[in-house]
Amino acid sequence: MSAIAYLDHNATTPLRPGAASAMRAALELAGNPSSVHRFGRVARNLVEQARDQVGELAGVSAARVTFTSGATEANALALHGAGRRALVSGIEHDSVLANAPNAERIAVDARGVVDLSDLERRLAENGQPALVAVMLANNETGVIQPLADVARIAHRHGAIVLCDAVQAAGRIAFNALDLGADLLTLSAHKLGGPQGVGALVNVSDVALQPLVCGGGQERGLRPGTENVAGIVGFGAAAQEARAGLSQAPALAAERDRLEGRIKAIARQAMVVGADAPRLPNTSCLVMPAVPAETQVMALDLDGVAISAGAACSSGRVRASHVLAAMGLGPDSARSAIRVSLGWNTAAADIDRFVDSWTRLWTRVGEPRAIGSAA
Ligand code: PMP
Repeated sequence: MSAIAYLDHNATTPLRPGAASAMRAALELAGNPSSVHRFGRVARNLVEQARDQVGELAGVSAARVTFTSGATEANALALHGAGRRALVSGIEHDSVLANAPNAERIAVDARGVVDLSDLERRLAENGQPALVAVMLANNETGVIQPLADVARIAHRHGAIVLCDAVQAAGRIAFNALDLGADLLTLSAHKLGGPQGVGALVNVSDVALQPLVCGGGQERGLRPGTENVAGIVGFGAAAQEARAGLSQAPALAAERDRLEGRIKAIARQAMVVGADAPRLPNTSCLVMPAVPAETQVMALDLDGVAISAGAACSSGRVRASHVLAAMGLGPDSARSAIRVSLGWNTAAADIDRFVDSWTRLWTRVGEPRAIGSAA
């Protein structure tokens, strides 16, 4: 059994070996992709090869891919760059919510699925050209959203669709055109590439203003010398992740085994979003009566890495807006943990998690749950 069970792939996924070696080779190169000489041409070719690889993962041509510093920047570029009134689902990532502070929030149901009739009503009420932001899969629960239906409704009302596909990419197969997304965002480090690189995919030629001015890189939409090694790592990871999609059913089986064992041990344990279609790798579990931070720390001491609901920023755990939008009470939300599997997860990692969780449950959870029922 490995010394550590890393089960926090939704926070960041370990670098895939192919991405690491491609990046090492790229770091040895001197060229600026904008230079005309041979060094520049080599760097340019690497960037363009990565653009092909990322385009293939999203099912679009390379010309539609703009590299950014990550999905936070890609979401900001889409929301500010399109300059439209925004409607966002209540379960979007902070990088969407914070870049659209005046946006209307589209409701989600108790399963964590966006409410299509609420979307329809809001679009019908206000005639202004809108941008509708709905993610493909949620980072906390893994719940997959009905993007094609969202797009059909949005387009009927003259709105465009921004789809944050960060957590879905490399975990489920999809095609930006079939989804009906006009803009789609990706992050390298959630699919086995490096941190600090992402992409905005402009599927349907949406007119966009850049966030920063400078040189003409990325067609002027994202000026600045390219992060060549990061982009190369992104491309290699995208290719490996695409090839690894066939392993999704096996991953889902491991995730189901994990949830089955937890529910067999603790009758009170709840799987959030279990009634909706979900990513194969994500499990959001509520262990009643035990705060999420207590669980994260206890599991960490046993060498098991998971997270409390949403990944905390700067070590600060906030109440989850996702779980609140689903109508989960504050007590349950405070006890929610997220276990997320990935390309290097072994059955032994799941066993290690279940063993550690069981020890905590019998020591703290079960006595408290019995106490609170009395
Ligand atoms: N969207 C979602 C759904 C995410 O999970 C994340 C990362 N937590 C982001 C956007 C932001 O991506 P990045 O870390 O590349 O800025």
